[in-house]
Amino acid sequence: MNLGERVRDDFPLLHRTINGKRLVYLDSAATSQKPRVVLDALMEYYHDYNANVHRGIYRIAEEATARYEESRAKLAAFLGAARREEIVFTRGTTEAVNLVAATWGRANVGPGDEIVLTIMEHHSNIVPWQLLAAEKGARLRYIPVTDEGRLDLSALDGLLTERTKLVSLTHQSNVLGTVNPVRLIADRAHAMGAKVLVDGAQSVPHQAVNVQALGVDFLAFSGHKMLGPTGSGGLWARYDLLEAMPPYHGGGEMIMLVTLERSTYKDPPHKFEAGTPNIADSIVLGVAADYLRGIGFDAITAHERDLTAYALERLRTVPGLTIVGPAEPVDRGGAISFTMDVVHPHDIAQVLDQEAMAIRAGHHCAQPLHRRFNIAATARASLHLYNTREEIDALVDGLHAVHRMFTRSPHPV
Ligand code: PMP
Repeated sequence: MNLGERVRDDFPLLHRTINGKRLVYLDSAATSQKPRVVLDALMEYYHDYNANVHRGIYRIAEEATARYEESRAKLAAFLGAARREEIVFTRGTTEAVNLVAATWGRANVGPGDEIVLTIMEHHSNIVPWQLLAAEKGARLRYIPVTDEGRLDLSALDGLLTERTKLVSLTHQSNVLGTVNPVRLIADRAHAMGAKVLVDGAQSVPHQAVNVQALGVDFLAFSGHKMLGPTGSGGLWARYDLLEAMPPYHGGGEMIMLVTLERSTYKDPPHKFEAGTPNIADSIVLGVAADYLRGIGFDAITAHERDLTAYALERLRTVPGLTIVGPAEPVDRGGAISFTMDVVHPHDIAQVLDQEAMAIRAGHHCAQPLHRRFNIAATARASLHLYNTREEIDALVDGLHAVHRMFTRSPHPV
């Protein structure tokens, strides 16, 4: 039994039927399904020890605080952080990137400075920098993408200059599946004196990510894509950077002392966690990390590589289908985007929905990347540890049916 088959029973939602058919969930790049341990831990929090953290001195408040800080320690270990205080809980990748832009960015980026991004970024790693650049008179530059869907590293020499303050790039593309050579780019950026942020939204759930090995300064990640609850996630940053950064939101629990005129702030990470945090979901994110670690990324990555290779091979049999992104299963993950001659991606997704298959259609929050390939939208199937070859077969059969439907019928549905 392979990994997908072995773990499926852990995920109650994967047993849902739609139109009398078993759900085939192929949209994990958008959000992942949750194992029962995650659901149980969420219920346990509200059922047994729901209380605000870092405030009460009674039993359940102490339990909640201990579990919240334990989860932070688990995530620090999960990502190879030097200390647990390097993890700031956020609502996810988007909030983590915005936090860095609004704090480190405002303090360190000035007129004429440059921020280097890539054409394959998710909007959440573009728009915060556009806002900062507009405010500061800074300039955004972009590493181009090749026809194959990889970063064109030959452009790096021209893009990285003494004006570069930050390089911010995705580890793994949510559209192309491409895994980027972060270490190489980080070393080049550091040599020019720039800092490096990596968007780990699509890598942290699927491969062993170690921030020391990546050699970056900031890493943003989303809990809901790594089997955890929505509204959970975080920012990892080197402690000396967090210490030097001004606060993000102002409010309760991030302060040492407040007078009517001014305030002093707590040490990181609390300086960046104003107000009542997302206690339940942040605690349960640690449970999701434990689940992934329990299975082990060697097994997860190997299984997903096998499925991706199988999917890429089988998709080639569908007439008129073009993969947008690396066609070989090398340095790429299981987000597979494609177009089909004569069929709009939304029609593909709609027809497959009738067969209880969930795939995504659209620009996947990466409009500049789609523009680069002269297309408005793609269809995307994206995999996780719980998917199986049978599901890939169902997808491919479904796509053959879509092709038949749109090429034979004079009145396609
Ligand atoms: N970056 C990438 C590469 C993503 O795939 C996503 C989510 N689709 C995000 C950032 C944003 O993550 P979130 O919506 O969880 O903040």
